[in-house]
Amino acid sequence: MPELSLYIHVPFCLKKCSYCSFVSFSDRARDKQKYVQALIGEITLGQREGAAVSTVYLGGGTPSLLSDRQIGSILEGIHNHYVVDTDAEVTLEANPGTVDEAYLQSMRKLGINRLSLGIQSLSEKELAFLGRCHTVEESRRAVIEARQAGFDNLSLDFIYGLPNRKSCHWETMLNEIIDLGAEHLSFYGLTLEPDTPLGKMVASNKTPSPDADQAAEEYEIASRKLMEAGYRHYEISNWAKPGFESRHNTVYWQRGQYLGIGVAAHSFLDGSRFSNTVNLDEYFMKIKKGQLPREDLEPISPELALSETIFLGLRLEEGISMSDIGHQFSIDLSSRFSAEIAELSGLGLVEVSADRLKLTPRGRLLGNEVFLRFLPS
Ligand code: SF4
Repeated sequence: MPELSLYIHVPFCLKKCSYCSFVSFSDRARDKQKYVQALIGEITLGQREGAAVSTVYLGGGTPSLLSDRQIGSILEGIHNHYVVDTDAEVTLEANPGTVDEAYLQSMRKLGINRLSLGIQSLSEKELAFLGRCHTVEESRRAVIEARQAGFDNLSLDFIYGLPNRKSCHWETMLNEIIDLGAEHLSFYGLTLEPDTPLGKMVASNKTPSPDADQAAEEYEIASRKLMEAGYRHYEISNWAKPGFESRHNTVYWQRGQYLGIGVAAHSFLDGSRFSNTVNLDEYFMKIKKGQLPREDLEPISPELALSETIFLGLRLEEGISMSDIGHQFSIDLSSRFSAEIAELSGLGLVEVSADRLKLTPRGRLLGNEVFLRFLPS
């Protein structure tokens, strides 16, 4: 039975964070129930006969703004149309301040076995700067309540590279983050998108731009401290205690098949990538008419498939096996990319050890520089 991962996009948020460019809406709360019905409609319309679901990820947006009954309806819709593995990883993204112990207990009862909390910072000042809707105290409480509700696979998201952060403050925050004891941690660099409030503030010099050197220093400090604390840096932005790597996200990096459901959700199926409309009203209209809301179908050429396999695989700590990829694409990878590999090795961004090509610590910081070299011309 072919394996499939499901991503369910829930696009509702209490308010937009200052840096956010995700497809999410802070003024459509009235549409939550309608959206849940539409998701179930899309699950039915797009059913993949005979697929076994190994991971389910409810992301957003803020999925924890849906009630336990609404989350239950979505999961029931999935179970009605798919065989879900008994040990499937089922993740819910949640924001502190939107969950309490009773809600989290309901999530456990519904079969959610992994919780991903968007904490982002343990400084009130930084949370205000980021336009987050929660306090540090609410974040700490959410972690405690998740444990009390029985979550033993907890992931926390943080942002590094905020302007004006001193490295001593970052070290202190990292100690506090480690003390929270989560099994999995994600750290994303602050990126400026021009159409966000933060992007506009920086463009008009109302706030300083994030400093690339400071961000690099914070990343390196995080990498060292988390490793000392027993976390494995298994992917560029992700650290986990052994055995708690995200199975769902690993499917993305290994080019496994996934189906995205909901507005703006992306999919990779049968060698093609596609995404759903980003327009919520169009999404509702299409589902009502019995049509899948898909657009931007991009069949992946063998050249692009090769590139994707290389640069997605390089995101992982173990890197890529050049002979495995060579067999898969009937090429000699080290000859094909000999100039690129030699140049990147010279720059200290990749290292070759026997058959494996992987990023160096510096290469992890400058991953995009590396990935560009493997794109089709
Ligand atoms: S909670 Fe997440 S999706 Fe919602 S506005 Fe903030 S960053 Fe965007």
